[in-house]
Parts: sequence; structure tokens; C-alpha cells
Amino acid sequence: MKYLGITLERPKIGIFDFTGCEGCQLQIANNEASLKDLFGLVEIVNFREISSERRDDYEIAFVEGSITTDSETARLKKIRKQAKILVAMGACACSGGVNNLRSRFSLPETIKEVYGEHHIDSGPVRKLKDIVPVDIELPGCPVSKNEFEWLVRNLVLGITPQFPTYPVCVECKQRLNSCVVDMGMICLGPITRGGCNAVCPRNRFGCWGCRGPSDEVNFESLMEIHIKRGFSEEQVVERINFFNTFSGIFK
Ligand code: SF4
Ligand code: SF4
Ligand code: SF4
Repeated sequence: MKYLGITLERPKIGIFDFTGCEGCQLQIANNEASLKDLFGLVEIVNFREISSERRDDYEIAFVEGSITTDSETARLKKIRKQAKILVAMGACACSGGVNNLRSRFSLPETIKEVYGEHHIDSGPVRKLKDIVPVDIELPGCPVSKNEFEWLVRNLVLGITPQFPTYPVCVECKQRLNSCVVDMGMICLGPITRGGCNAVCPRNRFGCWGCRGPSDEVNFESLMEIHIKRGFSEEQVVERINFFNTFSGIFK
């Protein structure tokens, strides 16, 4: 393949799923308008959701989902061994995501509540970097298809991707959205990394923090804004903990 007259390698890509809803993979598969261009840039050798091909000669692995069983741990380690670049794709892979809600309860009791006596092989929820080194984290629940393709282009061109670090509020204001906090909703936009084009507030829905922290996080101020508007501390804490994306910095 040639780009601006330069011959480029067409790296081989594998896309893998672990414990998650497969929504991140769907984002990629559903992007029909630009899938053809993407296939021109890379060779997809392993992507269960769209192809029966199963090759293990991939150089870049995009991995969706969190890790919850020993067999998943072994499979992830095998992928890590093969891939030159491993990308954690989506909140489940980057932080445990919504699956992490389960960690608040006793595991045997939760399994029993949902599945009765049926045996389920499931352990604690772990993010990928709890088990293997991760080179890049592609945030979001689900990931943005535009951002996925932007990342692939960067990798093909050998550019280190620079994700936005400013808060969602910046994009929200750029889009001239009305602030949903003023409409009586909780919004984590002031502490959450932008890059999603403020899609939730744009649709009159408060941000849930799926993309993780922005560069300057002020929990006190966030709390103060919401308490002033009648929310309880518990409601705001519940929202901050939802995707587990603020774990380690929020206590
Ligand atoms: S990050 Fe969200 S969309 Fe992606 S697999 Fe997890 S739950 Fe699904
Ligand atoms: S709606 Fe949310 S993201 Fe938008 S300006 Fe208000 S607090 Fe920030
Ligand atoms: S607005 Fe918040 S919850 Fe919605 S996609 Fe963006 S970061 Fe995620």
C-alpha cells in the first residue's frame, strides 16, 4: 500500500474478546462506510465477530473485555506473547468496566443469585494490565469507531497516538450544548477525558465517566457542584465508581 508516495507495511491485526458485551467489537464491525478503507490499511487475520479466519501471525492485538477466569488469563498471556503491540480496547479491558460492579458483592452469592445451582466458572474481575503489560489503552464504553480508526492509522504510520486529556466539558461547550447539570442531572464531564465529542450530554444524558480521568481531576469541586443542586454524596460516588475508571485516584 502507498500513502503520499511512500510504501507502507500493512500490519496484521487480531481482535479478541474476553468478558464483556462485545459492544466495542460491534462498533468496529458496524462501521461499514469506512471498513473498506480500514482493510486497505491493515490485514485482519483474527476477528471472530466478522470472519471465520483464525490466524496467529498478528502483530497488533486489540483486546476487548475484562479477565474473569483462569482460562482467560492463559489465553491473554498467549496473545501478549504473540503481539508486538497490545491495545486494551474499551472500559472493560482498561479498568474492568461495568463488570466490576460485581466485585462489590460476594462472588459465590452473586453467582447463586443469578444462576442458581448452575455451575459458572468465574473469578474476580481484572483489567488487562493486572495480568500483562498493555501498550495502549483505547478508552470508552463502547469505544468510538472514529477513534479506533484514528488509532489504527497512527499505528500504521508509526505515530505515537496522543489521546485527548482535556475534560468532556470542553467538547460539550464546543458543541454549544446546554449543561445537563443545570437540567438536574449528574454529569462527570468535568473530570472525564474528552474525545467522545460529548455524545452523552449532547443527547441530554449526563456523562458516566466511561473514558476515565482527564488530566486535572477535582473531585471536591465536582461533589460541591452536585450537592449544591440537591444530589447526595452517595449518588455522586455511585456514578464515579460505575465504570471503575477512577479507581486508584478516587477514594
Ligand atoms: S467496554 Fe462497554 S461496550 Fe465494550 S465490551 Fe465492555 S461493556 Fe461492552
Ligand atoms: S453537561 Fe456535563 S460535560 Fe457538558 S458542560 Fe455540563 S458538566 Fe460539562
Ligand atoms: S460523555 Fe462520558 S459517558 Fe458518554 S461517551 Fe463520553 S466519556 Fe463516556
